[in-house]
Amino acid sequence: MKVIIVGGVAGGASCAARLRRLDEKAEILMVERGPYVSYANCGLPYHVGDVIEKEASLLVADANTFRSQFAVDVRTGCEAIKISPDKKTVELRNVATGEVTTESYDKLVLSPGAPSIRPPLPGIDLPGIFEVRTVPDARAIREWIERGSLFLSGMHKYSGFQTVRPKTRAVVIGGGFIGLETAENLVHRGFDVTVVEMGDQILAPIDPEMARIVEGYVERHGIRLALNDGVAGFEKAANDTLTVLTKSGKSYPADIVILALGVRPDTTLAKMAGLKIGERGGIRVDEHMRTSNPDIFAVGDAVEVKDFVTGEWSLIALAGPANRQGRIAADVIAGRDSRFRGSQGTSIIGLFGATAAWTGASEKTLKRMGNKDYEKIYLYPNSHAGYYPGARPIAMKVIFRKSDGRLLGAQALGEDNVDKRISALAMAIQMGATVYDLEEAELCYAPQFGSAKDPVNFAGMVAADVLRGDMPIRHWDSAEKGFLLDVREPMELAVESAPGAVNIPLGQLRARLGELPRDREILVICRSGQRAYYATRVLLQKGFKARNLAGGMLSRTHAATFWES
Ligand SMILES: Cc1cc2nc3c(=O)[nH]c(=O)nc-3n(C[C@H](O)[C@H](O)[C@H](O)COP(=O)(O)OP(=O)(O)OC[C@H]3O[C@@H](n4cnc5c(N)ncnc54)[C@H](O)[C@@H]3O)c2cc1C
Repeated sequence: MKVIIVGGVAGGASCAARLRRLDEKAEILMVERGPYVSYANCGLPYHVGDVIEKEASLLVADANTFRSQFAVDVRTGCEAIKISPDKKTVELRNVATGEVTTESYDKLVLSPGAPSIRPPLPGIDLPGIFEVRTVPDARAIREWIERGSLFLSGMHKYSGFQTVRPKTRAVVIGGGFIGLETAENLVHRGFDVTVVEMGDQILAPIDPEMARIVEGYVERHGIRLALNDGVAGFEKAANDTLTVLTKSGKSYPADIVILALGVRPDTTLAKMAGLKIGERGGIRVDEHMRTSNPDIFAVGDAVEVKDFVTGEWSLIALAGPANRQGRIAADVIAGRDSRFRGSQGTSIIGLFGATAAWTGASEKTLKRMGNKDYEKIYLYPNSHAGYYPGARPIAMKVIFRKSDGRLLGAQALGEDNVDKRISALAMAIQMGATVYDLEEAELCYAPQFGSAKDPVNFAGMVAADVLRGDMPIRHWDSAEKGFLLDVREPMELAVESAPGAVNIPLGQLRARLGELPRDREILVICRSGQRAYYATRVLLQKGFKARNLAGGMLSRTHAATFWES
């Protein structure tokens, strides 16, 4: 059996290695247009920032490793330009010489990835404008930074009065994870960084109120955000610098521009071969990663996948799913019945020492789908036992089905151990767990790692309290008609308070019940929701109509106050 794999990075390389492990006899040819196979594109922003100093560190396995360890015929600088499904052949072009050869296949695997979106804007090809997708891209950015613009390098080298290198300006177009990671790394390299984002928030997969927290954090670390503004074009400016023009009419001077407007599935070959393209513009595959042609498989960023939670077709450009899909395609080619379960978009980004991570459906996705069978909670547990040094709060939003408690999605932000909470919740979602399962989850605990009630358990307990009716909640956006009762201490109100709220500290509540109305819904507030929960329990048992305002003052104003805690 002869198998040709197009694309030699995440999906393609894992497919080749797995196939060889399963089938010693298969003839495997992996072609890659670029100069490297199996490189770590996820590390590229950190190479730009010099955190990963050596380019060689990004090369996970080179062509020789594939040849010697896996007996895979690897051809780099080799582009697949045409598939003839009837003849079962692929035309390959040597990128350096232009020579075209034809290879036949029994099975073909496409893993061409998703190139960066590059709109045909005026000036987009000017020097100084870069993408971050490949090793040569990162190298070009590093060379540009080292060289500086003519003006800046001149000043830098001038040995008279000018001794400090002037601040250089970078404009990053796009506030997704590649844009933000690169922006952070440019800050570390001394740039004054502006991120221009067309949407009204950064990190589009998360909900806006959670994105606000991240926005506040990155702004405090030196990134300027220009939201609700799209890029309109680029102009050459004096001294070899650039001007970025936006749709709102603003202009930003820049010594370097990074394009990070998102990616689009590479379907060129698939379309030429007449393969079915799905509604989201990716190659349509079945759960075995088979395209509409039974002898052609497709994996990675180029394919559409079923969203594991919503069941919708979606485009999820992440390394984990690409690797798993490559492995599954290899299994199926080798005769195994492996299936891809779908993807839930579990993602993480580190920014200036903090972490944002998420998994499953966001609230805005559920709203877009018209799904009303969900509830959400906000909680702010410590990352580990508060008495052990270094505990930091984690802002968590957990979304679950109202009807049966099934976990639908989670988003978390914080400076300590956010990843393990979202990883645990991601696994729970994949296993079809409910919030009641989270209550029961047995997780690692010692004070430096977590709490006897881990944030994951805690999320389950809060959500289950809501569903069992032990803690009715209301959200701030529907709080206007209730009687607001603030159970914090008076000194806390000096920091932040909700207009119109009556203050009865929790410790005085039982003695002052007579001050509360019995004919109105009482909405109880504290800082994070915990004391309000205790107060709500008191009030409910005393016959009041009480509800906890979910997440307390932190969920009302948390963009401004969360990180100060
Ligand atoms: C800067 C950056 C940071 C990232 N960070 C993360 C992260 O932190 N976490 C995460 O989960 N994901 C991250 N990703 C996404 C992740 O890298 C991708 O999801 C993953 O690499 C997709 O694998 P793939 O095999 O589909 O495509 P790719 O890895 O992009 O590989 C496709 C390859 O196919 C080659 N190719 C295309 N067409 C042809 C052709 N006709 N002939 C020959 N070769 C061809 C291309 O040259 C390319 O090298 C990041 C991506 C980038 C660019």
